[in-house]
Amino acid sequence: MPEGDTIHRTAAGLAPHLVGRQIIAARGRPGGPQVRRIVGATIDAVEAAGKNLLIRFDNGLELRTHMRMNGSWHRYRPGERWRRPESRARLVLEVPGAVAVCFDAPVIELFETRAEAIHPTLAGLGPDLLAADWGSERAAEARRRLRSAARAELTISAALLDQRAIAGIGNIWRNETLWHERVDPWAAVRDLDDATLDRLVATAHRLLRASADLAPGQARVGAYRRTGRPCPRCGTPIRSAVRSAAISRTTYWCPSCQRRPAAPR
Ligand SMILES: [Zn+2]
Repeated sequence: MPEGDTIHRTAAGLAPHLVGRQIIAARGRPGGPQVRRIVGATIDAVEAAGKNLLIRFDNGLELRTHMRMNGSWHRYRPGERWRRPESRARLVLEVPGAVAVCFDAPVIELFETRAEAIHPTLAGLGPDLLAADWGSERAAEARRRLRSAARAELTISAALLDQRAIAGIGNIWRNETLWHERVDPWAAVRDLDDATLDRLVATAHRLLRASADLAPGQARVGAYRRTGRPCPRCGTPIRSAVRSAAISRTTYWCPSCQRRPAAPR
């Protein structure tokens, strides 16, 4: 599943080819958004917001796509052969010199930019770990949201995936953040002190930031998808499990150096 770092990289890759250019043609699926409303509009911005990719137009409209498990944006030159079948294209945007194709994304919405503040997903997002203005205030807000009463009983591994607490983390970086900070993924949020939550937020920011600047798949991992292989820190075999029906994603952890509460370093 694309995480914030992937979406950030996608936005950075598309922006130079789209921003400032006018939409010559736009094609969607029957039943999808009325994309002909953006034909003739100029693209003002291509941005990541957590795991959402936002494209803003100069006519007051905004396009949101969310990749979920399999979606992706590709950019081609006009006439270039696509790397996925056309039948999987959900949205095609043509500008002078480039064609942007969104494949397999289950969420494609077109709405008025001024409605962003009341958008059911965007308005509730927690601080974005990859926002250009990330800093101590955003980090404190992330911790405050993790601390909310509604999240006290959640495991920390579930809370880190909650985009309303912090935006941008998916399965790789929640596992890696907990491994780096030696925190037991099954610990409840209420059992972790503020200093530990602050360390988790800071490390999640650092790992996503570093990964966003690398080519896809280049980031080193300690626990993610390393079941049975030795922990790079202590040599104990990494374990994995799916324990929560609410979070069907696999958790990977070192049972030796990720203890509850966090072991002192
Ligand atoms: Zn270990």
